[in-house]
Amino acid sequence: MTTTASRPDTTSAAALPYHRMLVDGREVDGHGDVLDIVNPATGAVFARAACADADDVDVAVRAARAAFERGLWRDLPIHERARVLNRFADLLADNMEELYRLEAVNNGRPITETKAQITRLPEWYRYNAALLLADRGAVVPMSGEYHSYTSRFPIGVVGILSSFNHPLMIASKSLAPALATGNSVVLKPSEQTPLTALLVGRLALDAGIPAGVLNVVPALGPVGGAALVEHPLVAKAVFTGGTEPGRAVAVATARRFAKSTVELGGKSPVLVFDDMDVDVAARGTAFGGFIGAGQTCIAGTRLLVQRTIHDAFVERLVDQAERIVVGDPREASTQLGPVISERARTRILDYVATGVAEGATVATGGHAVDVPGLPGGFFVAPTVLTGVRNSMRVAQEEIFGPVLVVIPFDDEDEAVAIANDSPFGLGSGIWTRDVARAHRVASRLEHGIVWVNDHHRLDPSSPWGGVKDSGHGREGGWESFHDFTHVRAVTVRTAADDVDWYAGRATGRLN
Ligand code: NAD
Repeated sequence: MTTTASRPDTTSAAALPYHRMLVDGREVDGHGDVLDIVNPATGAVFARAACADADDVDVAVRAARAAFERGLWRDLPIHERARVLNRFADLLADNMEELYRLEAVNNGRPITETKAQITRLPEWYRYNAALLLADRGAVVPMSGEYHSYTSRFPIGVVGILSSFNHPLMIASKSLAPALATGNSVVLKPSEQTPLTALLVGRLALDAGIPAGVLNVVPALGPVGGAALVEHPLVAKAVFTGGTEPGRAVAVATARRFAKSTVELGGKSPVLVFDDMDVDVAARGTAFGGFIGAGQTCIAGTRLLVQRTIHDAFVERLVDQAERIVVGDPREASTQLGPVISERARTRILDYVATGVAEGATVATGGHAVDVPGLPGGFFVAPTVLTGVRNSMRVAQEEIFGPVLVVIPFDDEDEAVAIANDSPFGLGSGIWTRDVARAHRVASRLEHGIVWVNDHHRLDPSSPWGGVKDSGHGREGGWESFHDFTHVRAVTVRTAADDVDWYAGRATGRLN
């Protein structure tokens, strides 16, 4: 199935597939300027999409709220809601090939990587359907003759604002629990990569999720995105993106006491100890840093390497970086695709120049790559900078590209101190064969996620999120599921006598 249609206007762009937004179960145009959707591997516009302005967002939020109040989803018995979510997961699985091909052409991620990530999407819906059935309230040990317990209720309209890098996975991490708990959603995908979200919106309708429960509105961040997070009917915003817009989202929601989860940037430290085989560590850290062309929030881009193995490790890492096949994301043999835009490529290469000006050495890469047949693509060579100090900008700031910096350390205390000396606190990694050290160091890292001898592993059951400028709140697990609900305490009097407070005798304690 597709969401495309021919748009009535007659420019040369009219020949391109045009994707409408999804509001209240219907495909509609937006009032913002139509978005040109670029294939980063070619630099060419390959599709167009409707773009919501603030009024369109208002219509979508009101449709979501009306659907919530109609109760066709919110009040569905939980076993039935779980069945629909499982049907949705089945439909995602049935349409997997179209989903991963569309995603790869839109964000430039190699097809092999995209497939490996997206084929797992149905798990998020199945897991959250299972949580819905497994969830239990608590019996509260209230003193006196009372039976007190908790139950949960959905919060209303959830706004989900997603980033360009993993459009479907990031949307699904919140969409699955938001829907499972009975909420309605307005999903605003990145204006750069809105296509698969629109397709998923249609599949949700086909699965039996009622019209208006999931609305998908591509929009520019400062226009439609801001309108969504500032909307008084939005009870929770889940934002994935850069730290500064994330800060604005947290402030806008806090002002009206709405909930927010903000999943922001990172500069993940990866600690490589000298008990580790350098070949294993080089292979693992290359995977941790270069996958997705380094455009992942938890990319392991700050490599802290014990001085005793530093030179041998760098030699192996450079060798790994130079073996990576940069090319057409559609080819199964491609290991590193383009970055998202020319602007992003310029920013990345500017960072390399900044690092050099600060005293770093380019051990490999540091330049654009011409891929035969794709002259307009935004390719960057896998890059390793050595001679880096943690105070340099290339060690403190998120580059969001295939650039790893290597910083030596002498002992465990120094490694932990450098790892924690960052404005961010999202992902981190430890490479060691010493099991006691692995747990000891993990317990000292001020980061929301720690991998030992691996990287990038993610599961619907595992809490995901950061601290400091990496944001707050968690996706995944019970932590996320419950954050799409409010808890209520229900207290039932079980005493045989009636309440007669004003008769002059105390009938219990007051708060
Ligand atoms: P971005 O901040 O440019 O955009 C993200 C989303 O926010 C888009 O939908 C955009 O339209 C919207 N937006 C932008 N400005 C806004 C505003 N003022 N108000 C409301 N919405 C606004 O980020 P990006 O370039 O798409 O993604 C890259 C960033 O996302 C990186 O910093 C990366 O680390 C981060 N990220 C974090 C996680 C995580 O789980 N922590 C995951 C993926 C990406």
